[in-house]
Amino acid sequence: MTAILSNLQAVHSAIAQAAQLARRDAASIALLAVSKTVSDGRVREAYAAGQRVFGENYLQEALDKMAALRDLPLEWHFIGPVQSNKTRAIAENFSWVHSVDRLKIAERLSAQRPPALPALNLCLQVNVSGEDSKSGVAPQQALALARTISALPHLKLRGLMAIPAPVDTLAAQRQPFARLRELMQQMNAPQDNTPGLQLDTLSMGMTHDLTAAIVEGATIVRVGTAIFGRRNYGEHK
Ligand SMILES: *Cc1c(COP(=O)(O)O)cnc(C)c1O
Repeated sequence: MTAILSNLQAVHSAIAQAAQLARRDAASIALLAVSKTVSDGRVREAYAAGQRVFGENYLQEALDKMAALRDLPLEWHFIGPVQSNKTRAIAENFSWVHSVDRLKIAERLSAQRPPALPALNLCLQVNVSGEDSKSGVAPQQALALARTISALPHLKLRGLMAIPAPVDTLAAQRQPFARLRELMQQMNAPQDNTPGLQLDTLSMGMTHDLTAAIVEGATIVRVGTAIFGRRNYGEHK
């Protein structure tokens, strides 16, 4: 058995255990394998072990990997910061973008999404830890931004994403995830004469806080280290 296969099995059982703890169906939680800095050969190994959906942070690295893996039916999610000059290639090559936090970026992705492709799935990245250094829209601004974005063509606003500051205990990890879940519930509720949004995705939880995220309702967990081992940034960039 390869390391990647046994790691994937371990992550799936961690997801199943957390789901059981939360009385949730494990099938409602998708595993996004974060393959930044991971070679195309190791992505191929993960594919052989059954993984189909991969997340990348760096555009050029992702495009090189997609080209090398064109023979495989993989689904690619962009999860890194999105710069304006990268939106066209992202709109043309990915199925999802998890890390949108500005209207301008969403407008460009909408305009540049090839109409022949299905709508590009988007998550709004929300700054739930409240640190000013982090990217993400402020929770108080998320609803207005989401309403505007959900009117754009060629996009499908699916939900919210967060990368909370790392903390150690399960209770502390749960707090920002609970905030993201509550925010999505508020955004889905009708207000006055405006119907609620129809968001169905909470992209939250990484290797170190997967259980807390699932207990709070994650529908996509983004896991790199637990699948591929520690990243060696020297390998790629
Ligand atoms: C790198 C990364 C991950 C995966 O982190 P691990 O701790 O390796 O599981 C998840 N989400 C985002 C946005 C990342 O940049």
